[in-house]
Amino acid sequence: MSLRPGNNTKKGQAHQNTYAFKHNKSSKLTKVISKVPLDNLCKRCLDQLEWRIDYRKYKPLTAPSRCNMCQEKTIYKAYRTICDKCSITNKLCAKCALSVDSYQK
Ligand SMILES: [Zn+2]
Ligand SMILES: [Zn+2]
Repeated sequence: MSLRPGNNTKKGQAHQNTYAFKHNKSSKLTKVISKVPLDNLCKRCLDQLEWRIDYRKYKPLTAPSRCNMCQEKTIYKAYRTICDKCSITNKLCAKCALSVDSYQK
């Protein structure tokens, strides 16, 4: 005469671990990467950089690099070939330097 309360609490745990990489929140690198600016990019380059971030392959710039257009050391973001000023004025992607109609971010 045992009336057990149904202990079969089945949580519908679907496999949702489809993320490419789980970021370790305490990691210093993750903190840096999460603040990485992804502006002034065309869709293709944005995808590429997001992929790099997802797979922890994004290496933030440590020293400013030279802009291919104005030749000034005004690039502070990794993987860019032209600086923000030049890319915005000329409506170019800051990475591949192709002209873009509108920036993704
Ligand atoms: Zn420039
Ligand atoms: Zn591009």
